[in-house]
Amino acid sequence: MKKQQSLFEMSLERLDRAANYCEVDEETLERLRHARSVMQVSIPIRMDDGTLRVFEGYRVQHNDILGPTKGGLRFHPSTDLDEVKALAFWMTFKCAAVGIPFGGGKGGVTVDPKALSRLELERLSRGFVGRMAGFIGPDTDIPAPDVYTNPTIMGWMVDEYSKLNRGKAPCAFTGKPVSVGGSLGREDATGRGAYFCIKELERLKAWVPAEKTIAIQGFGNAGQHVARLLHHDGYRVVAVSDSQGGIYQPEGVNVPKVIEEKNRQRTLSGLYCEGSVCQCKECDCEGTEMIPNQSLLELDVDILIPAAMENQITEDNAMRIKAPYIVEVANGPVNAAADDILGQHGVTVVPDILANAGGVTVSYFEWVQNRIGDRWRETKVHSRLREVMGDAFRAIHGKMEALGVDFRTAAYVHALERLNEAVASQGTYSYFNHQ
Ligand code: NAD
Repeated sequence: MKKQQSLFEMSLERLDRAANYCEVDEETLERLRHARSVMQVSIPIRMDDGTLRVFEGYRVQHNDILGPTKGGLRFHPSTDLDEVKALAFWMTFKCAAVGIPFGGGKGGVTVDPKALSRLELERLSRGFVGRMAGFIGPDTDIPAPDVYTNPTIMGWMVDEYSKLNRGKAPCAFTGKPVSVGGSLGREDATGRGAYFCIKELERLKAWVPAEKTIAIQGFGNAGQHVARLLHHDGYRVVAVSDSQGGIYQPEGVNVPKVIEEKNRQRTLSGLYCEGSVCQCKECDCEGTEMIPNQSLLELDVDILIPAAMENQITEDNAMRIKAPYIVEVANGPVNAAADDILGQHGVTVVPDILANAGGVTVSYFEWVQNRIGDRWRETKVHSRLREVMGDAFRAIHGKMEALGVDFRTAAYVHALERLNEAVASQGTYSYFNHQ
């Protein structure tokens, strides 16, 4: 039986593919094939009923040639070291693709956070920092929220880190609550960054928003905000889903109402919203129907936005995807085999390392504000984000046309050229051998 390709192996395949289209030193490639440092810890937590449970935690620093490593921290039952290594690798390329001075890192804990009480979740968050405090830091490796982590959790973590270091260290974490040093505009930055990419496509293709239909898989932080912004501009968001299922309304779902309904219990349940888009069948729209997640991906829409987890579009369903445009708000939702099939069918995939880079970009703005003790207005955050995303989109799109490659390969080439320049500036074989 053929061994299934791991996420990290898939990432290396994408690196090799991009290397065929640019002049890159073999030493750069060799360095990028390996994570710089990997830390695995076990975190013992006293549960509310008095028992002890031990959770596995990971932090991977993939490459720091462009700056301190940066990347989210997820709490998820299926998180493992391979996933975290791949996500850290993608962060290296994401930061390089949009030109921010960070390297790639990522972390996670294998846990179902929804099964923990608030106090257990706080103990786990602080316990993770206790184990990792010597490995992370404002000048070395800076975590942020990702799947099932959020500003409250970042607030606990930065507090624990500050206590352990005997002094306030707000820039050790980003995505914090605004009241403890978070940046305005960080909450919706990932969705907004993807929205700016879609606005670039709109400009290039002369789209009329009201004529375009959209399906979004995943209705958490990233999915909700991109839905809200597109709906506001008149795009027809016809389907949305979350881990419990999805809803479909051909005339367009009432996005603000669905957001309100999904989050209705957030104030009661605190950290996680216990609502689901499924409860919104009657959100002001006659004819809304329930659909399984899988059928959402295969709907006949103009733009498909996967905003949940990895490996959602694979060789098993790629041939049934009807959307001509996919904007990857999630990390790694399309696997390498599916890329080839989609390419053969003329589907344009705006890759994750560009489409969801808004989050890390505003995390960078937060880190800068913390370092200089400043606070930016939200309008400044939005306009600088638009500038970063627009510049990166246009540069990568230009590369795609010049090289005749797909969007993902162009994004990797663009990032790889930056990384190669940094590696070469420190000297490679030819420099040390006077060639
Ligand atoms: P989140 O925890 O806020 O939301 C995740 C959403 O996905 C939830 O609505 C959940 O119900 C849904 N979901 C989970 N499994 C699903 C499934 N099988 N089918 C459909 N929906 C499912 O997480 P988030 O921060 O919005 O992250 C979503 C994706 O975006 C992840 O891939 C993450 O790595 C990526 N991302 C997030 C950020 C950020 O700043 N939050 C930045 C870059 C990339």
